[in-house]
Amino acid sequence: MTKAYANLIDGEMITTSETIEVVNPANEQVIGVVPSCTKDELDRAVDAARSAFKSWKKTSADERQKVVQGIAAAIKDNAEELYRLLTSEQGKPHAQAQQEIYGAAGLAAAQSTLTLDDVINQDDDTRLSRTRRVPVGVVGGIVPWNFPIMMAIQKIVPALVAGCTIVLKPSPFTPLTTLRIAELIKDVVPAGTVNIITGPDELGPMITEHPGIDKITFTGSTATGKKIMEGASRDLKRITLELGGNDASIVLPDADVEKVAEQLFWSSFSNAGQVCIAAKRIYIHEDIYDDLSKAIAEYAKGVVVGDGSQQGTGVGPIQNKKQFERVCELIQDAKDNGYQFLTGGDTDPSGTGYYVPITILDNPPEDARIVAEEQFGPVMPLMKFSTVEEAIERANNSEYGLAGAVWTKDTEKGVEIAEQLETGTVWVNEFMQLSPFTPFGGHKQSGIGAEYGLDGLKEFTNPQVITVKRDAAV
Ligand code: NAD
Repeated sequence: MTKAYANLIDGEMITTSETIEVVNPANEQVIGVVPSCTKDELDRAVDAARSAFKSWKKTSADERQKVVQGIAAAIKDNAEELYRLLTSEQGKPHAQAQQEIYGAAGLAAAQSTLTLDDVINQDDDTRLSRTRRVPVGVVGGIVPWNFPIMMAIQKIVPALVAGCTIVLKPSPFTPLTTLRIAELIKDVVPAGTVNIITGPDELGPMITEHPGIDKITFTGSTATGKKIMEGASRDLKRITLELGGNDASIVLPDADVEKVAEQLFWSSFSNAGQVCIAAKRIYIHEDIYDDLSKAIAEYAKGVVVGDGSQQGTGVGPIQNKKQFERVCELIQDAKDNGYQFLTGGDTDPSGTGYYVPITILDNPPEDARIVAEEQFGPVMPLMKFSTVEEAIERANNSEYGLAGAVWTKDTEKGVEIAEQLETGTVWVNEFMQLSPFTPFGGHKQSGIGAEYGLDGLKEFTNPQVITVKRDAAV
């Protein structure tokens, strides 16, 4: 049944006459409609956020913590309803949707405890100088479709903790669970502090260029990130950009083939490969290439691709038609170029649901599109290397610099390699591990600034230095 969802503006759930349909990618059925906001609703949301900011910025850390913990509780207490809804709009299997919902609640609870203490710069007979962090103001949050809830929470929570208010825009492809959370937190957050509005992509630039917004925090593609930077430059809004990645994993010859095969598989195919920090290129030392590539392909054959709401599904559909077509195009390009497939490769663009079979390529060349571009789908190229120096050079040969991983029994060597990778995060012998207290951000064209931890929180503030001259002749 198609349900109509509402937006949260100034503590009220509102609807609009124009709506946007939201489709379940597993069967292409419309499962909900959401408001299609125009400049009018955006203005109302920004006015509400500006007005709420006046009092919210003066609240104590304890008060803010309590509100944020209320958000965490609302999500946790309704987790089952939320993860089922998330699967129906995003496509990810229930277990992964559950992880996202509980992960978002956990992130909110953990980050509610963060505080930015004043720093004393000088304290002597001549002067007292102190740096405090003041909230930047009204934040515009723009979120993608791959982790709609995690990304929404990692924008709403630090904004509130820092003393800011926010106007958040989910992706038009995945707004339902976010709007259900909006309903759940309507009476948890003071009116106007959190506003959640939906609309087409065109609503994005209106937010970026809105004079009543002081900062943009964005997660999405590098192409959109560049437009946001341009739009935000008009009035020098602060920006945090979490963008695309083409993360490389490097597997050294001492790695245990059986043990790493499964981990490497999920480092690439979790959420059907639609993870900014998924391993998108895997470089395997030539001594173990044949054994390991065979083991990964063998493991892949046991993973079920299907509707995420069905038990046993390991990899769901691609989230939307446009992305589905792009992934199919990349696979076709690999076929046209005669690259070898270890498994998968047979797509059916005319079938119902945006399903792509798990596809693994056998040592395609470095300039293949599937290696050079961010695929964002269940397609992984495995490549052979001879020397560590060569692997590092190939891993760094990208405009992106989000994350990477090294797999080896020799952890000292692993760290030595990690330090040479040009990315914001590098894991040794694990993948996709993020902590609410540790900064996460991209190098090169993978982003600007950081989220998470005190570094992330600082991005919602401006430093203010107050000095008092102690020996002044006044
Ligand atoms: P996208 O850039 O197409 O859209 C993201 C959001 O921006 C959506 O809400 C969209 O409506 C909005 N938008 C579109 N055009 C806009 C414009 N001109 N101005 C302002 N907003 C606009 O990205 P996507 O396809 O939804 O997400 C996939 C991309 O996100 C991938 O590249 C992925 O790597 C990246 N991503 C990065 C991270 C990270 O933390 N670095 C995390 C998740 C996803």
